[in-house]
This record gives sequence, structure tokens and C-alpha cells, in this order.
Amino acid sequence: MGTGAGKKREHLIKPVLHRQYPTASYGQGVFLYDEQGKAYLDASSGAVTASIGHGVQDIIDAMAEQARKVSFVYRSQFTSEPAEQLAQKLSELAPGRDYWTFFVNSGSEATETAMKVAIQHWQEQGRHGKNRVISRRMSYHGITMGALSMSGHVLRRRRFVPLLADYPVVAPAYCYRCPFGRTYPECGLACADDLETAIRRIGAEHIAAFIAEPIVGAAGGAVTPPNDYYRRIKEICERHEILFIADEVMTGIARTGAMFGMEHWGVEPDVIALGKGMSAGYTPVAATMVKDRVMEPILQGSRVVMSGHTYSANPQSAAVSLAVLDYIERHQLVQAAEVQGRKLLERLNRLADKCEIIGDVRGKGLLLALELVADRESKLPFPAAKGVTSLVIDKAFEKGLLIYPAAGGVDGAGDAVIIAPPLTISDEELELLMRLLEDTLQEVMREIQ
Ligand code: PLP
Repeated sequence: MGTGAGKKREHLIKPVLHRQYPTASYGQGVFLYDEQGKAYLDASSGAVTASIGHGVQDIIDAMAEQARKVSFVYRSQFTSEPAEQLAQKLSELAPGRDYWTFFVNSGSEATETAMKVAIQHWQEQGRHGKNRVISRRMSYHGITMGALSMSGHVLRRRRFVPLLADYPVVAPAYCYRCPFGRTYPECGLACADDLETAIRRIGAEHIAAFIAEPIVGAAGGAVTPPNDYYRRIKEICERHEILFIADEVMTGIARTGAMFGMEHWGVEPDVIALGKGMSAGYTPVAATMVKDRVMEPILQGSRVVMSGHTYSANPQSAAVSLAVLDYIERHQLVQAAEVQGRKLLERLNRLADKCEIIGDVRGKGLLLALELVADRESKLPFPAAKGVTSLVIDKAFEKGLLIYPAAGGVDGAGDAVIIAPPLTISDEELELLMRLLEDTLQEVMREIQ
């Protein structure tokens, strides 16, 4: 079939096929530029990824230096210095230290590997029935079938539900719309106790692990639990011999004002999934980190972690990730995330006084979000048909502001946007971000009224 005279043939499968996306031409600091030279303030770090900003020369140099030595080795034939060093560095940085690391290429692979390692941990001890993973209703752990089986993101699951593993889910820690209609602390952490109830119903002998995002990302919009939630969760997991997997793909590597999100609550996960900020977007790399004691039965048993990808432990990616970690330390970006995050949170709260569609402002460090509602008093969500999240994202985009959509509300039936700029954002750039965001929300309010 012809494509029509003069019509450009298109081969790239874009997120929305009929839509025109600008071509990115270059990036510098917190800005991206398209072919027409239009500037976009990257207030979402892409997909909460470009945490040190664009075009950082140190990272480009590290990439080139490693490429000159060796770009690729196959993990069944060689190891490489950057991969060895990165595993050691991550182990030193992680809560409580002493983790082994398995490198993969995406956050989905990291959580799926976490699930497999957890199952294998019990198999090696002859406990073959412990093979299910509990997750939370409001969660996103990745797009591959295993990761999606553990995810509560309704929209992303819908087409594939019959093919997904039938894993149990429990209530989220979503105080703005408490699933139990209660208020913290009077609630006594009913959401954490829901895990205990599920374990008793299913039987701990069938459960390998519980997985949760320290702060819920795409499936809720920076949904942050009450302070003692994760300590209770960890205690429940330990009591029932269930591994606790922290999905730090979005929260990990300085984003929330701590190197790992779980540090905010002093909890040491058994397994950690990392991605996104690990390379700050300079190369695809992700990781599954496994605590010493969880590796032990595998080390004593088969001695093989049954997973692997062609690009696992890629030297080029590892070199980039090491350079990113070094950059974060040298520029004190954990502290920057905390300091700039506090300023941005305060500004967003002030913006809420002027914009009645902002129902909730939440998050930690530079992982912040606004939940948008039709009525602030009753927390009534907008009807889905209004497409408010898309409207806000598109209007912001027109103005040269990039923000990230989240599925807010109960089971995604609401609107939320994530604001997560690079951790290097200056005060002046924060001002510009706020100006563009306010213009966007005012325009959206006029349009939907
Ligand atoms: N886990 C969390 C918490 C995420 O936010 C994401 C992506 O948004 C993933 C897993 C999946 O990562 P990826 O898109 O790199 O496969």
C-alpha cells in the first residue's frame, strides 16, 4: 500500500500513534529544546529519571572513556571493573548495607527479578509453596507480565488481566482517601494491618514476599504513608517469614531527599529494586539488590540466580551509573533534593490557596504531586470523561513545562500530576516552574468551569 505522495512515512510507535510529538534537539541542565528552539522546563525529569539534569559533561566523559576500553561483555563470559565497583558502591549506600546486586535494564526487570529471587530464596530451602507476592491496590511495579501481575495500575493491567498471575492485593496507605474511612493516627494503621489479615487468609506458607513503593508514583501521585507504616509492615513480614521488597525504582538514588526512600523510616528491605535515577537517564540500567541473608540459601544451594539478560551488567551502563553516583555525592544532591523539595512543597501549598482544583499536595524531597478534584470539601474527583490530568499535562507542555501524569484517586479514578524536576534545579528555575504551573492551572480552571 502506498503512503500517499509527499506524505512522510512513519515507523516509530509513539505513545499515542496519531499524535505529533516535537523532536528533541538537545538538553542542558533542567531544560530540553526542540528542533524549533522552543525551551521546555523539565519539571518531571522525563519519567522521574533525569535527576542530575541534561547534558552533564562529567557523565558524557565517563561514557566515552569506558567506550574506549570496552562497551560490552557478556555476563556469562566476563565481569567488568565498573560493574564490580557499582555493586560494591550500591551495597555501601543501601540501608543497613551488605546487599548483592543483579543488574538489569529497566525498572520492570528489576521488580520482576526481585520477585523471582524471593521465590528462589524459599525454593532453595525446600519451601516450594511460598511462591506468591502480595502487592497493594494502588501500585505500579512495571509493564512486563510478572511486574504487571504485582501492580494495581488499573489502566495498564486492563487488556492483560486474564494472562496475569492471580496475586493477592491489600489496601494502600492513602490517607487523603483512607480505604477504611479513618484518620491517622486514630486509625491505628488499619492499612498496614490489612497485610496481616491477607496473610492469615492466604496462609504465610503460600507467600514469598510483599512489594511496595516507599512513595507511590504513577499509580497515585507521590502518595506518602504515615510515619510508622513501614516499620509495622516490616514487623508483620518478619513475623510471618515473608520477604519485604522495596520498589525504589522511582524513589531511589536521592530523589526524595535520602539516597533510598526507605531511609526516611529506618527500614532495611530484604530486596530493593532500582532503576530510573541510577543512571539519571544517561543509559538504560536498573538493579535488583538482595540482602546478604536472603542470598545465603542460594549461595548454599544452587549458586545460580535464575535470571539474566543480554545487557545485564553492561560495563558502559555501569560506568555511567558510577559517574552519576559520584556527581550526586560531589554536588550534595541528596541535601539539594531535601532543601529545594521543601521550598517547592511550600510554594505548591501556597498555590493550592489560589487554585481550588488542588485537593491535596504531597510527597517528599523532589517527588511531589498535586491531586486535582472537582470539589475540595467533599474530595469529589472529576468525571473521567473530562480528562483533567491530560488537559493539565498538555496545557503545561504548550507553555514549555513538562510534568508527569499519575492515576490519582481510588483505583485510578481521579486526577494527579507529579512534579519532580532535576535535583539540580536552582531557585530561579523553581520560580519559573511555579509561574508556568500557575498559568497552566488557571487556564485549565477557566476551561473546565
Ligand atoms: N517501579 C516503579 C515504582 C516505577 O515508577 C516504574 C516506572 O515508572 C517501574 C517500576 C517500571 O520501570 P521501567 O519503566 O523502567 O520498566
